[in-house]
Amino acid sequence: MINKQHIEALRKIVGHTNVLDAIEQMTAYSYDGTNTWSHLPDVVVFPLSTSQVSRVLKYANDNRIPVTPRGGGTNVSGGSIPIKGGIVLCLTKMDKIIEINKTNLNATVEPGVVLQDFQKALGKEGLFFPPDPQSFAGCTMGGVIAENSGGPSCLKYGVAKQYVLGLEVVLADGTVMKLGGLTPKNRTGYELAMLFTGSEGTLGVITKMGLRLMPALKPTGPSWPSLTMRRWRGDGNLYYCQQCFTL
Ligand SMILES: Cc1cc2nc3c(=O)[nH]c(=O)nc-3n(C[C@H](O)[C@H](O)[C@H](O)COP(=O)(O)OP(=O)(O)OC[C@H]3O[C@@H](n4cnc5c(N)ncnc54)[C@H](O)[C@@H]3O)c2cc1C
Repeated sequence: MINKQHIEALRKIVGHTNVLDAIEQMTAYSYDGTNTWSHLPDVVVFPLSTSQVSRVLKYANDNRIPVTPRGGGTNVSGGSIPIKGGIVLCLTKMDKIIEINKTNLNATVEPGVVLQDFQKALGKEGLFFPPDPQSFAGCTMGGVIAENSGGPSCLKYGVAKQYVLGLEVVLADGTVMKLGGLTPKNRTGYELAMLFTGSEGTLGVITKMGLRLMPALKPTGPSWPSLTMRRWRGDGNLYYCQQCFTL
């Protein structure tokens, strides 16, 4: 389905080293956390910017090439397996934390930021991002939003959708859309950012996220009652959640 001209065209968009087409390189992108199914892509492409994502998607759309977005590949629903071959669009090189705004309790990040790295950066500012899938060391922020992930903290604090303020997404034809913003009151018209949250890569590719944050929980001594919920924090310390205890 994909020929040498297609691969050359993709290399022109993202650069030679950001395209993999050898079987031994692509095998790692043929499966995910389900560990049950696998399918080789024809090519793996690592975009570095929204504009490159847009150009890759437009090219794939024009040439009827299937595209499967991928972050850390830790999902357990088969979502990042390229069952129709084509392009695996791996977002891991778009990994910048663009802004952490302590005053307004929000952050803007690219999809390839690893959750653990994000938590560490937030920990230094006295902040945290509650969704904490236990794959935190390998999953990416794009995957967390695309899967509407939870984790132990979601029992009290809610899942990813409760922390999405706005998204930048690229549609299959390459159109870039900005949905929502960075403020909680930014809701004219349909809640399209919510539609993309949990859509598992079926509606488009998330290229930027505006996220709501919380102040970090205060660390407490080990004398706290055992009923208190233990929490993993980005700085590697164990914290205890006072609110959990008081509920
Ligand atoms: C050991 C382990 C523990 C886990 N624990 C939890 C848990 O506690 N709670 C929980 O909810 N989940 C958990 N998961 C599931 C999974 O890790 C999370 O859902 C995680 O957020 C997926 O992120 P990822 O970067 O690996 O995404 P991937 O697996 O790469 O992709 C997930 C889906 O999102 C799509 N996608 C990825 N990036 C983008 C993007 N930028 N734009 C559009 N679509 C995109 C993919 O096509 C795919 O459909 C766990 C998995 C493992 C292996």
